[in-house]
Amino acid sequence: MATAINTAASCKNFINGRWVESRSGRVAERRNPADQTEVVAVSPLSTREEVREAIAAARAAFPAWRDTPAPARGKVITRAAALLDQQKEEVARLLTREEGKTYKDALGEVSRSVNILEFMAGEARRMGGETAPSEHPRNFTYTFKQPLGVIASVTPWNFPIAIPVWKAAPAIVTGNTVVFKPAGITPLTGTKVVEIFAEAGVPAGVLNMVLGSGSEVGDELINHPDVRAVSFTGSNDVGSRLYASAASKMKKCQCEMGGKNPVVILADADLPLAVESVITGAFGSSGQRCTATSRVVVEDAVADRFVEMLVARTKQVKAGNGLDPDVELGPIVDENQLSTVLRYLEIGKKEAKLLAGGSRLTGPAYDRGLFVAATVFDRVPWDCTIAQEEIFGPVVSVIRVPDFEEAVRVANSVKFGLSSSIYSNDAAKIFEFIERIESGMTHVNLPTVGSEAHLPFGGIKGTGVGLREMGRVAIDFYTELKTVYIDYNRRKPS
Ligand code: NAP
Ligand code: MG
Repeated sequence: MATAINTAASCKNFINGRWVESRSGRVAERRNPADQTEVVAVSPLSTREEVREAIAAARAAFPAWRDTPAPARGKVITRAAALLDQQKEEVARLLTREEGKTYKDALGEVSRSVNILEFMAGEARRMGGETAPSEHPRNFTYTFKQPLGVIASVTPWNFPIAIPVWKAAPAIVTGNTVVFKPAGITPLTGTKVVEIFAEAGVPAGVLNMVLGSGSEVGDELINHPDVRAVSFTGSNDVGSRLYASAASKMKKCQCEMGGKNPVVILADADLPLAVESVITGAFGSSGQRCTATSRVVVEDAVADRFVEMLVARTKQVKAGNGLDPDVELGPIVDENQLSTVLRYLEIGKKEAKLLAGGSRLTGPAYDRGLFVAATVFDRVPWDCTIAQEEIFGPVVSVIRVPDFEEAVRVANSVKFGLSSSIYSNDAAKIFEFIERIESGMTHVNLPTVGSEAHLPFGGIKGTGVGLREMGRVAIDFYTELKTVYIDYNRRKPS
């Protein structure tokens, strides 16, 4: 395989306001998943010692940043929003080359990150508490919010711009300092995020980044005694261990993890709309989104018609390099994820009826990349492996049900609870679904994917623990609440 190593970006750590080479001497190469001959980045596998240096820098920077007035901190985030907005096309292209999602999806992610920054900048001026009447005369009571200290931010590869931004922005605006570890396979987009904050004027030590493996850099970061809180997004496997470890050290912790998101299609649904929604939700970002549509729960009365339309549309989905504007389905992110997806396809062929896709794409257009065909399984039993486990690939399972009651039961029959959707025009059933569906976010006549910058994001059950991210509530994770009692009467305690 030809290499283009000389044109690849060489990534560095960012510690105490400076870009520094790792001393480890070990590196990882990141190749474009749509064209494995292109090395996109070479990044260091940093050492535990380097993580400790970053934590020390963050700790030292904390008092001055904490004491910087919140509106002044907000102005830095405002500048970051403007800088990212100016560079959004370039950043989106980088994201497509490194992670693989289509340019349209990449631009969507970057635009959403700009929105998050704009919203969070304003939070600087809204960091208020509450005042309350006291039980005692001439007494005043109130609450206010204070930053925690050093925050660990550990993020996945699938939204390598938006997730780091939605963690760093509220952490920084509230006066914390951050050590950020991006996913090992997306070092260059992680670097871009830090460059933007640095250029926006985040002072030295307030935001640091250490590149490297989860087992070394990630592990040192979350377990270090000077780290007060851990914000993690990623798999259940890593998140559950990390949560236990952080809890044992009494660290504040939030974990956003996997999903198995259902779209429920009732007999009265607008079927063409529902089909397009499933295509977007299941195959957008190659199904590699925590909110991806992975189960379609459809009422028997319309199941045959719906499946026929879905399969016809799925067969039109064009796979390829996400920089090609006609492409709807980009590659799988890496060899590991590819083998996971292929393994589930084989399981699915035994458990259900394969109607479209079902294998790796081969041939001259695909051989340099890691492509899997858009896949539809029909007549999937609700409790089988492909209906229960997160696949994280362009695979959708159709589960047929007799009625609304069974649809709700099946939709809730998984351990996850991130997103969901219903297609219907029956107001009573829609409201009942909204009430009974076990997910942190739900959509009506919309895909399971998609969220807005000023609204909370996150899941319940096995998907998420800790406070929600994004929206105003994001601030609560990054602050402690202090309750104050003031006596201006000089009364003797009774
Ligand atoms: P992952 O394997 O769990 O990795 C997430 C992050 O944790 C990476 O930075 C990883 O580093 C790091 N890590 C790994 N082992 C660690 C350890 N022992 N200690 C500390 N950190 C460690 O997840 P992923 O494969 O990147 O992402 C896919 C998963 O993310 C899916 O399950 C998806 O559903 C979930 N996700 C959830 C949401 C949500 O909001 N609910 C959003 C997006 C994605 P390395 O990369 O170096 O291993
Ligand atoms: Mg992983």
